Amino acid sequence: MEPESVVSMSEEALKSCPVGVRHFEVAGFDPPVDRAPPEAGRARSRYAAPGPPAPTVRTSVELNLRLPSRAVVPARVITFRDLADGGEHVAVALGEQVAARRAGRPPLVRMHSECLTGDVLCSARCDCGPQLREALEALHREGGYLLYLRQEGRGIGLYSKIDAYALQDDGLDTFAANRALGFADDERDYEVAAQMLQALGVGAVELLTNNRTKTRALESFGISVVRQRPTGVFETPENSRYLAAKAEAGRG
Ligand SMILES: [Zn+2]
Repeated sequence: MEPESVVSMSEEALKSCPVGVRHFEVAGFDPPVDRAPPEAGRARSRYAAPGPPAPTVRTSVELNLRLPSRAVVPARVITFRDLADGGEHVAVALGEQVAARRAGRPPLVRMHSECLTGDVLCSARCDCGPQLREALEALHREGGYLLYLRQEGRGIGLYSKIDAYALQDDGLDTFAANRALGFADDERDYEVAAQMLQALGVGAVELLTNNRTKTRALESFGISVVRQRPTGVFETPENSRYLAAKAEAGRG
């Protein structure tokens, strides 16, 4: 028997959505668990200069996900307050992450940067969609967190990414196109990812990535990466040039 707050999508809608939301339950206004007290982490020496408050969990809500394997699995979507850049980044907890930590293993973590064209529209121009879906399956299997970072187009934003696509059609690779638009090769910032993990009480992770820059960045913000596990490579005729540029730059 489902509670009244459950909103069910039609079967048709679910079939068309590779990572469909089966239903959601809106937690109470003041969830009893997974919500740190407002002053948690804010205690400071009276001699220390006042700094920004430590990020904390804002809301945590149960959400069922339909995985690419078609299985509907429970997950938890978590929002935060006081993240460094003020962005609306979310963590998604899947699998037996608590049990995994109890067994002495840190949780598996995937830092995934938002890609509307790849994640939602399943564009073949990049490999973001397949990587996201691979990560969700692994996280469900082994327990861990997807950190969904709202930094579209390597941090340059959606419209600029589409502009970069136009330049790529004229022959530039993904990094040269960014530079032609006045951006750095990669504008992504992983400080918020470290802050999200700290707010979740996670100090050590097994990181799912081919990108050593992500590992180094996370460690520079105080998260221990006990192992870097490679992801699959999802090559298509359309994204082969993009993947080659990433490989040459040592990024994933
Ligand atoms: Zn993408």
